[in-house]
Amino acid sequence: MTDQTKEYGASGPSCPFSISEELTNTRRDPEENVYANALAQFDKALQHIRIKEGVAETLRYPKRELSVTFPVVMDSGDIKIFRGYRVHHSAVRGPTKGGIRYSPDVTLDEVRALAMWMTWKCALMDLPYGGAKGGVVVDPKQLSMRELENLTRRYTTEISIMIGPDSDIPAPDMGTNSQIMAWIMDTYSMHRGFSVPAVVTGKPVEIGGSLGRTEATGRGVAFTLAEALQLKGINPSQATVAVQGFGNVGSVAARLAHEMGMKIVAVSGSTGGVYNDQGLDPVLVNNFRQQSGCVSGFPRCDEITNAELLTIDCDVLVVAAVENQITARNADLIKAKIVAEGANGPVTPVADEILNDRGIFVIPDILCNAGGVTVSYLEWVQDLQSFFWPVEEINNKLRTLMHKGFESVMACAEKHRVSAREAALILAIRRIADAIMIRGIYP
Ligand code: GLU
Repeated sequence: MTDQTKEYGASGPSCPFSISEELTNTRRDPEENVYANALAQFDKALQHIRIKEGVAETLRYPKRELSVTFPVVMDSGDIKIFRGYRVHHSAVRGPTKGGIRYSPDVTLDEVRALAMWMTWKCALMDLPYGGAKGGVVVDPKQLSMRELENLTRRYTTEISIMIGPDSDIPAPDMGTNSQIMAWIMDTYSMHRGFSVPAVVTGKPVEIGGSLGRTEATGRGVAFTLAEALQLKGINPSQATVAVQGFGNVGSVAARLAHEMGMKIVAVSGSTGGVYNDQGLDPVLVNNFRQQSGCVSGFPRCDEITNAELLTIDCDVLVVAAVENQITARNADLIKAKIVAEGANGPVTPVADEILNDRGIFVIPDILCNAGGVTVSYLEWVQDLQSFFWPVEEINNKLRTLMHKGFESVMACAEKHRVSAREAALILAIRRIADAIMIRGIYP
């Protein structure tokens, strides 16, 4: 036995994925296969759109997808193997755009669904982009900063054939942040030999990021919330709000909703949440979370689970954590009048029908959380022109674009007598189908 085989045998082979799982996708409840869910939403919306069958069929599949398996040197000196993906769903309306997710639960099907949702989101907001998504199967909390940097730089190199300022522009998503975007930008720039800030968005402002980008998704959620309250005739100062997911999206949405006069009665993070019917100050909860690592234990509150938060008696429920939170199992128990999808895909199609039948207004993800990619677009434009705008201008532009998106969705919903989700999809799919027909099918 050589030294090398001995070493390999000693630590055992480390496989970053289970092959049968990848092929059969049996890991999840069928209701929770997000790619199947994205297709179900698409099929439902198609009933209201007249487009060529072949065009619709094209949009059911990703344009291209890349799976990468790559080694990373860990602090211990061991070499660990990781698996990652980058999927382009559609590039018809422009370069593809979408975040990169670091999570142990990442699967190819999930990345496919998220890429498809990015296509719809960008088209709905009328941004000149197609849709993409990337992911690495990893729990970033288990890595040191150095390991995280090594992993990011190697993953960037592996997917560098897919990304570029004119072709595909990544951004943060679950488990990634502005520092990771900085490493992506630097790695790509090192390969090119000059700085290419426009290759990613959500970067630190010091290297070409946009003011207001970090808060943009949460700010967009708060804007759509205000619109939805107005639509339902609820005075914000009378509205009670529960927020699931107190990360970058949920904490900002809660703070801005609170500033608009809404009462935040419950918030939760990954390990559980807190409830106080007298209201919570989201700024204090956030300070507490930053010190202790979670919202649990915040003084003068009842401790609740994530599942309990969803069924709390409140006017507005913001679901800003992960996919598949409202399902057939709990949709009947939701008491909120408005559900705001801060996350991508938090309500399954079955649950969506139940909420609809019960008269609960759902602000669909591709509208509700579109503030992030909208300011990503503003960041990209600023990078391309090397001229940067003040934060007031960014936030005003965001407000205008979100308002336009919300209005167009409601007008379409009224016209077709469908839910806001179906309306958002109808608008998006129609725009993409038009672009396909005008461009023509090559060759
Ligand atoms: N990951 C975010 C999303 O799901 C932002 C994507 C972007 O800015 O490109 O919308």
